[in-house]
Amino acid sequence: MAKTYSIPTYFILISFLINLISSLPLTWADVLPYQLHTLTIATRLRVDLDATAKAARDFGKLVQQTPAAVLYPSSIEDIVSLVKFSNNQPSPFTIAARGRGHSLGGQAMAPNGVVVDMTSLKNSSAGIGIKVTRNPVSGSYADVGGHQLWIDVLQATLEHGLAPVSWTDYLYLTVGGTLSNAGGSGQTFRHGPQISNVHEMDVITGKGELVTCSKETNSDLFYAVLGGLGQFGIITRARIPLEPAPKRVKWVRMLYDDFSTFSEDQEHLISINGLDYLEGSLITKQSPPNNWRSSFFSKSQYPIISSLLTKNGIIYSIEVVKYYDDLTGHTVDEELQELFKGLRFLPGLVFTKDVTLVDFLDRVHIGELQLQAKGLWDVPHPWLNLFVPKSRISDFNSGVFRDIILKTNQTVGPLLVYPMIRNKWDNGMSAAIPDEDIFYSIGLLHSSGADDWEPLENQNKEILKFCDKAGIKIKQYLPRYTTKADWMNHFGPKWKIFEDRKAQFDPKNILSPGQRIFNSI
Ligand code: FAD
Repeated sequence: MAKTYSIPTYFILISFLINLISSLPLTWADVLPYQLHTLTIATRLRVDLDATAKAARDFGKLVQQTPAAVLYPSSIEDIVSLVKFSNNQPSPFTIAARGRGHSLGGQAMAPNGVVVDMTSLKNSSAGIGIKVTRNPVSGSYADVGGHQLWIDVLQATLEHGLAPVSWTDYLYLTVGGTLSNAGGSGQTFRHGPQISNVHEMDVITGKGELVTCSKETNSDLFYAVLGGLGQFGIITRARIPLEPAPKRVKWVRMLYDDFSTFSEDQEHLISINGLDYLEGSLITKQSPPNNWRSSFFSKSQYPIISSLLTKNGIIYSIEVVKYYDDLTGHTVDEELQELFKGLRFLPGLVFTKDVTLVDFLDRVHIGELQLQAKGLWDVPHPWLNLFVPKSRISDFNSGVFRDIILKTNQTVGPLLVYPMIRNKWDNGMSAAIPDEDIFYSIGLLHSSGADDWEPLENQNKEILKFCDKAGIKIKQYLPRYTTKADWMNHFGPKWKIFEDRKAQFDPKNILSPGQRIFNSI
């Protein structure tokens, strides 16, 4: 006989069921089309809090945007079918490739969309690894998956005695992530950024088409994707040129107490042949000589730096490197002396180290491990990265470094300033740079406590406002604009091409919504 319930019991049961349902996490079917469930990739889509919460954060820790699901692809085809599926929907959902999520402002996030965890391809035999092809005549190269970390590219190519020539300071970033921005470091003045050092790519467009592109084939896509902020396609393979790898490096830092002497010497050094790397930085009380970016100075060198700091409040350091190997080891010091002739660093304040190539290129990782051990790596990072035209770098120094940063005294972290050469960049690519032959790369790499990042963000805004008011035509690197007008201004004459290429390769605005160029969030 069927059981009957009294009316009060019935209501209790109903409200229990309602409570139960509302306490369950959303499933992908709640916000994404139900038919997604019928694709084979459904088993590799996760909607649990562990997966979505991780994809909702990045290195910056300033923005939090939760996706509906995270795809852990086991092959390139998995990503193709996801993008194709979305593109075929009447209301497509957004998709963001996520490398290591080392963006600073939510650029690899996809609120209510799907984040593709590119690094899971590493665990799959169907993913693209790192394949080196030696060719002494036409040039050696490596075919590397977009999900690969640069540190792995370095290790794998060194096994063949070869290495790429253009790097970022930190190597635990993905190839696809840095090629979507530019990938710059102290080698950029000589070899151009990483985007200037790519022969060919495989890219999944916003329509779900897997296309091979290069300067010769499908060149529009090639130029669009490099520096394209993830807007035109997902890079699944890049062909990177390789050169014979040097074994060791002479690593030198020299100190200055005057900004114009410091910047003039930097400009001189990038104008002559001979160096393999050049960067510069500011040393202040809040931005000490040794920090996570590099621990170059020894304890015995600290007292002299401290007394200079007390006297000047700020000092400047040029950092250069010359590579060498068995054949050139006996002449490298002499060559450096020749290159340094006429430089005006403070007398005697030049410091040299001799390390392996790997120790030099992987220098930031040591600082990372130290900060991680103290719980200070996984904290908010209100960074500001800019390119400043050479003609205004002196105004930038007085208005920003001296007037804003030094006076407010709240900056914590490395402060980078070093020149780059415009003709080492390819203006046909999407990356936006200043319209002068030489421009400076500025990195204000702040860290803060969990709740005190806002004053630093306000300082960043003040710096941008100052540049605007003073008519300094900066370009943001790793930009964090939110309005169409700002993006149009950022790309300047390139905006129309950028917009046209978006319409061509991702007409439904599916890819990388976290950049907030074509999607408002
Ligand atoms: P993510 O943050 O995951 O993604 C960045 C953007 O690219 C997102 O829009 C994402 O959707 C898109 N994307 C990711 N993978 C792909 C792909 N395969 N195809 C297409 N689009 C994709 N930058 C420099 O240039 N020089 C430096 O020296 C440097 N040093 C850094 C040091 C540290 C400690 C950190 C945290 C960052 C540094 N960066 C540097 C910045 C870095 O290049 C960018 O933050 C880069 O985006 C991070 O790479 P990622 O692999 O984590 O990419």
